[in-house]
Amino acid sequence: MKALITGCGIGGPATAMALREVGIDAEIFEAYATQADDVGSFLNIASNGLSALRILGAHKQVMAAGIPTPRMVMWSGSGKLLGEVANGLALDDGTVSHTILRSDLYRIVRDEALSRNISIQYGKRLISYEDTGTQVRAHFDDGTQATGDILISAEGVHSTTRTLLAANAPKPHYTGLYSFGGITKYPSQTATPGTYHMIFGKHAFFGHATAPTGETWWFANLPRAEGDIPRDWKPLLVDAFKDDNGIAADLISHSHVAAGLPVHDLPPVPTWHKGRVTLMGDAAHATSPSAGQGASLAAEDAIVLARCLRDEPDHTRAFARFEQERRQRVERVVSYSRRISNSKAAGPVGRVFRDLMMPFFLKKTASQESLSWMYRHRVDL
Ligand SMILES: Cc1cc2nc3c(=O)[nH]c(=O)nc-3n(C[C@H](O)[C@H](O)[C@H](O)COP(=O)(O)OP(=O)(O)OC[C@H]3O[C@@H](n4cnc5c(N)ncnc54)[C@H](O)[C@@H]3O)c2cc1C
Repeated sequence: MKALITGCGIGGPATAMALREVGIDAEIFEAYATQADDVGSFLNIASNGLSALRILGAHKQVMAAGIPTPRMVMWSGSGKLLGEVANGLALDDGTVSHTILRSDLYRIVRDEALSRNISIQYGKRLISYEDTGTQVRAHFDDGTQATGDILISAEGVHSTTRTLLAANAPKPHYTGLYSFGGITKYPSQTATPGTYHMIFGKHAFFGHATAPTGETWWFANLPRAEGDIPRDWKPLLVDAFKDDNGIAADLISHSHVAAGLPVHDLPPVPTWHKGRVTLMGDAAHATSPSAGQGASLAAEDAIVLARCLRDEPDHTRAFARFEQERRQRVERVVSYSRRISNSKAAGPVGRVFRDLMMPFFLKKTASQESLSWMYRHRVDL
């Protein structure tokens, strides 16, 4: 069997490697001409995601390039300590969640795939496909095409294949937040290594951690109408934190601020697969970043999809089983993450209620055991 995989983010290379483990050839086609390189943007790989990457022999490389970040301390905008919680649950061997630059994570999974002789072609944006009944042919925007036995769309939240599979597929839902990431040499006096400090500010949400290099890595979530883009984000962002206690405005002032990204998630997608074509990763179930799970879920999907293709007699049964094993879990994460995103964009009344209730809530959930369904989930090949 030969699989065509569209998208070389996280899910695409991870799936190609997992397929290789079960004896299925795969070729990756990426829309962009080169690897995405959004310096300053970073993400959290949770222990369940590292566990999935371990099956592919890629977790050590990810951990070496990342920063262990096992704890989160929460503050209100007025400087009140709201509580301290674990950032996920450690694996049995003590492995904790890591923070890694998005560009490093992409590079690592891509290089791992290349080192296994998996072909990656750039500048190939899928625009349509034909399912002939015996094969599937993908058409790209450069006029070329490729033929395989199955097509796996790992195209992310704005997947073209999702709308080709079902014209009424849901569109990405804007969470109400723009996201920013920055790295600065400016020291963050409150930050201790391995700990995220999160500020539920009066107008926006801020998180920062100190890297072993001494640099401060920060991110911000700013409530704003989608498409309302200022000429310069930096003064706007500094302004959003100027009424808060804490170091957010200072850190932003001392950083290069790249354009904000509107954050989307996906309502449940009714059709994950049809014939020889399936979605996976964000293409099927994009979650907002608040739970720090999107990349981890894509890595889990890769393992489960490969196992289903190995164990089921044909691709139709394999895709159906993949959906059956994954849908409930991923949709639970999406709605959990959406609830957190909503609390970041709370209005003045919601904010008062949130800051009052949060210490009780955080105390109850400090160990994060109540989230063991999310972090202790294990996939196998
Ligand atoms: C601001 C922000 C912060 C985040 N923080 C976290 C976090 O802390 N933790 C976490 O786990 N996740 C986080 N995420 C989510 C995480 O990045 C995604 O869940 C993850 O990248 C999904 O992997 P994927 O492979 O499914 O899609 P992607 O990584 O989005 O990759 C999709 C790839 O497909 C390509 N593509 C698109 N269309 C086509 C086409 N038609 N043909 C060919 N190629 C195509 C794209 O160019 C891209 O390279 C965050 C996301 C954002 C936006």
